[in-house]
Amino acid sequence: MLESADTNSDDTAKCPGLLGGSDDLLEQVRNDWSREEIEKVFMLPFNDLLFKAQTVHRIWFDPNKVQMSTLLSIKTGGCPEDCGYCSQSVKFDTGIGASALMSVKDVLETARQAKEGGASRFCMGAAWRNPKDRDMGAICSMIEGVKSLGMESCMTLGMLTKSQAEKLKSAGLDYYNHNIDTSRRYYKKIISTRTMDDRIETLDKVREAGLNVCCGGIVGMGESREDRIDMLHTFATMPSHPQSVPINMLVRVEGTPLGESNSIDPFDFVRTIAVARITMPKSVVRLSAGREKMNEEFQALCFLAGANSIFIGEQLLTTPNPELSKDKSLFGRLGIEPMSSHECPSEI
Ligand code: SF4
Repeated sequence: MLESADTNSDDTAKCPGLLGGSDDLLEQVRNDWSREEIEKVFMLPFNDLLFKAQTVHRIWFDPNKVQMSTLLSIKTGGCPEDCGYCSQSVKFDTGIGASALMSVKDVLETARQAKEGGASRFCMGAAWRNPKDRDMGAICSMIEGVKSLGMESCMTLGMLTKSQAEKLKSAGLDYYNHNIDTSRRYYKKIISTRTMDDRIETLDKVREAGLNVCCGGIVGMGESREDRIDMLHTFATMPSHPQSVPINMLVRVEGTPLGESNSIDPFDFVRTIAVARITMPKSVVRLSAGREKMNEEFQALCFLAGANSIFIGEQLLTTPNPELSKDKSLFGRLGIEPMSSHECPSEI
């Protein structure tokens, strides 16, 4: 068990290089990271880690630009899955009932408002195990409508068949989100109704359909540092890195099995962001759920560690998110500007 980042080896403590060697490695995009290498990076002294993350960040991105997305729940509650953190599962008593799929018109009205608020991407999430073929027509109309507003589109609908992934691509979808959530080892403690391999399979179909992949995880679910390192290793060794990597801090929801979880050490959260940035240098790393509980200094540290995307808007599916005015004020104080569409260097 790794208890403290102070336990780094003499090598990493003394040497200014990424892994005790040359910093040339910082400029490479690699899919062959070993678990040991990622652990060494994770365990660097905090200042070294942040310096290296920011160095990598500046190779590929404007350090003062952050991508802004808005996330709308287009079908809320009643989900048959049992993800232990989720307010929308039928298995837990969270007070959230099941609703029908929103109308295309209402979704597009919300997208228009999101665009006015500064969002360049509109993400739509449905609480499904997988979409039914009968819903695909409405889903595709939503994508086409969002695209016609000049926004990027993202969907998260659960597991997909090959033909559903292809239909989404034909409708113009830019990104598909499907998170692996945590390490393979810890996964079984969080979800029993579908496996990590089910998720990897859907991600393969999404990639094969030519869609950009949005795939991330949640920290603060009681997992160990080893689990965080394992999760980062899974992302960093995918056939190609997800173009978007949301790192969420658990939002504890009363009534869910994780409603009483202990908080994560904020520095470990920042380390997770920094290692994502270093190991997936061309990906956009999103500081995702949990911002409502972070103070502005914590968020600024995440941006310094290489996070360059957020969700704006006061609600994230069913949980709270900072008010737009607060985000605008924070960005003003930090000199951060919105990233425009399609600025991610690894985007298809
Ligand atoms: S996270 Fe998604 S799949 Fe899991 S219970 Fe919630 S809505 Fe269902």
